[in-house]
Amino acid sequence: LQTVPLMDADDIRRALTRVAHEIVERNRGVENLVLIGILTRGAPLAQRLSRLLQQIEGSSVPVGRLDIGLYRDDYGTNPKGLPAVAPSDIPVDLNEKRVVLVDDVLFTGRTVRAALSAILDLGRPACIQLAVLLDRGHRELPIRPDFVGKNVPTARHEHIAVHLSETDGEDRVLLQRQ
Ligand code: 5GP
Ligand code: MG
Repeated sequence: LQTVPLMDADDIRRALTRVAHEIVERNRGVENLVLIGILTRGAPLAQRLSRLLQQIEGSSVPVGRLDIGLYRDDYGTNPKGLPAVAPSDIPVDLNEKRVVLVDDVLFTGRTVRAALSAILDLGRPACIQLAVLLDRGHRELPIRPDFVGKNVPTARHEHIAVHLSETDGEDRVLLQRQ
């Protein structure tokens, strides 16, 4: 197994800081914004973006999390290969809100498709945008991210290991090749 370093802690911090600025610019502030992290690692990323938005704009942005169930999540990166245990938690009414979905890696787009269905079952947001730390390509649906930390061309069989301090004790992103 060959591993290629893609991002260190500073790279991740800078990418998220840029994405936070892009979110503010696109939405002309943070009014009516809600961040929703897709479990597992989208949740801590959404929390980090909320803190950055607070620093930039001085207003707090609510954060929710969504468990889209057994859809292709994380490829067994937790020890028992079990799906996320934390349940969905959407703390605000989503009607007329500007929702930013947050995930670690965008691949085929099927997870985001499921998240869109779940969100649209909960309310009618004014709009839904997508922020991902990494876009590895290979979309199978007409879904594209609005905000991208880093674009990483990959082969289908490759895997991007995303380590975040909240879930993995360190901030690091690696490309894993066979
Ligand atoms: P998709 O549904 O777009 O095919 O895959 C995206 C979901 O699967 C995300 O929730 C993401 O966490 C996970 N995923 C897909 N590919 C990778 C990968 O290469 N590395 C990691 N860490 N997660 C991935
Ligand atoms: Mg995931």
